[in-house]
Formats: sequence, C-alpha cells, structure tokens
Amino acid sequence: MKILITGGAGFIGSHLAEKLLESGHEVFVIDNLWTGKLSNVEHIQNNERLHLIVDTILNESVMNELVFKIDHVYHLAAAVGVMNIMDHPVETLDINVKGTEVVLRLANRFKKKVLIASTSEVYGKHVESDLREDDDRILGSVKKRRWAYACSKTLDEFLSLAYFDEKKLPVVITRLFNTVGPRQTGRYGMVLPNFVQSALLGKPIKVYGDGTQSRSFTHVHDVTGAITRLMDEPKAEGDIFNVGSGYEITINELAEKVKAMTGSNSEIEHIPYEKAYGPGFEDMQRRCPSIEKIRDLIGFEPSYDIDAIIQSVIDYFKE
Ligand code: UDP
Repeated sequence: MKILITGGAGFIGSHLAEKLLESGHEVFVIDNLWTGKLSNVEHIQNNERLHLIVDTILNESVMNELVFKIDHVYHLAAAVGVMNIMDHPVETLDINVKGTEVVLRLANRFKKKVLIASTSEVYGKHVESDLREDDDRILGSVKKRRWAYACSKTLDEFLSLAYFDEKKLPVVITRLFNTVGPRQTGRYGMVLPNFVQSALLGKPIKVYGDGTQSRSFTHVHDVTGAITRLMDEPKAEGDIFNVGSGYEITINELAEKVKAMTGSNSEIEHIPYEKAYGPGFEDMQRRCPSIEKIRDLIGFEPSYDIDAIIQSVIDYFKE
C-alpha cells in the first residue's frame, strides 16, 4: 500500500514510518520540520520505499499530488508541546485548523481513508479518571492560551465527523494521551524527556506546580501499533478512540521514579506554573483514559508499563 504520513519526521510520525516500512508499505512523509527533525528519519532515509517531502501541509498543490497517489493518510502534522503552543498561538491555530481542513478536503476529493491524530487535551479540565470518548468537554477561558490547542483539535474532530457523515469519507479519529519514548525532545516542554535529561546530567528535576497533577503515559510503540490497527479496522470508521493507558501517575511520583531509576543525585525542585509557562497558563490536574472502547474493538492493551517506558527513555538519552 502507499501511505502518506503528515508530520512523519516528528517523534510519533517517524516511529510510524519505520513500522509501516517494516510491514512492506511505500511511505510518503511530508514534514515542514517545525518540530520534526531530519535526524528522526536518518536511519530509514536510504530505504527506497521512503519518500521524504520537506514542505508544509498548507501547500495545497504538493498535497494534492501526494493525496492523489496514496491509499491511506495518517494525519499527524500539528503544533506540538505545551511550551510551543504558548509561544506560537498563531502558528498553532493555523496548522491545526487549516492544515486538517486541507487534508480532509483533498482526501475527500480522491476518497482516501484518513486517520486523524487528535489529543486527550480535548477533554479539558476533568478531574475524574476513566475519560470516555463521548464525555463532555470542560474547557477554560478563551483568555487562557492553552485552550486554543484543545479547541483547534476539537474542530478537527468535528470536521472529520462531518466528512464521514455528509460525504461518506472513511475517517478514524484517535485521541492520543501522553505518548512518550525514544526521540521525543524535551525542548517543547514534555515532561519525561526533561526529567530524564536533568536526572542524567545531575541538574534539578523541575516539577511544575505542586506535582500532584497526574497523567497516564503510553510508549510510542504501543501507540503506533494501536493506530495502525485502527486504520485497518473498518468498524473504527466514523468513530473516536482513546489511545492510552489506564495507569495513572502523579508528576511528583514520576520525578521520584526517574531519579531512582537513573541513580541520580538531582534535587526535585517545584516551580510555579507562571514561571514555567508565562501568564495565561492553566494545567490539567488529571488526565487518564478509559481504554475500554479500543480494547473491545481491537483488543488493545499497552505492552510497556511505566518502568519499561522510563527505562526506554533513559537508554535513549544515554546513547
Ligand atoms: N511538567 C513538569 N516539568 C517539566 C515539564 C512538564 O512538571 O519539565 C508537568 C506539566 O506541567 C504537566 C505534566 O508535567 O502537568 C505533563 O506535561 P507535558 O507537557 O509533558 O504534557 P501535557 O501537559 O500535555 O499533559
């Protein structure tokens, strides 16, 4: 099969490209290298079934040609990282809203199946665990910049469902919860690569807020496994799936675990949110999915527990 990955030089996209090449597919990657990196795809660049296009998905003539010649699109290109989103609100809305509009419109023109990578951010400020796909969303004030990201991704989901319902375009929507693993950079604020790097360098491990906020982390290999199986499952079309793990950990516990597993002497330091992200920031206290729906449909179960996840990131940074 011929497969297009938008954002294929990014952290998740590059793992996905690798997996699809291993399965024998021909893979087209388009990436504008905003947060993606050529080094992420360096090890596969000599594969003759990989085609790398450095351009933006907003370039419609390039996208038109690509979508015409492929069978499936994994749409991963988006603004990533809370720091990035806080620093670049215009680019965030531009790429997340217009970019997805271009992908869906062209996919519909040639009737090509699309998988949309959405995010757990769309749930907003829930405090209960077990977030379910049809739960209400609880978003903060428009004056708080972070919520622009959740809103833009929500719009992507609405547009995808609209194309499915009205135009019969085969679309699958996935809501990715904190995905981590090798190649993820800490540059845009992601917690695990930052903690591991600090611990290995003996620098303070910086916990933002009081550290009682929690997340559930999923290894990128589990995520790419889940999204490829959802793409290939006809019953997933026109529907939304959480992709994550039911195991929840506070950021304080994560810091302690990273410190212990690296054998580091680093201090664990607490930094106020305002200082970390600037004004207009609001965190989510809790974010843990129900994975019942994806389990029922494709039998998904994460294979990496939290220790194996942390170890894989430690090994990556030690290399
Ligand atoms: N965080 C932290 N230290 C860091 C980076 C992040 O304490 O160096 C916190 C952050 O405030 C949030 C959690 O870790 O509560 C997860 O942050 P991340 O940016 O990785 O993901 P998201 O906020 O999108 O869940």
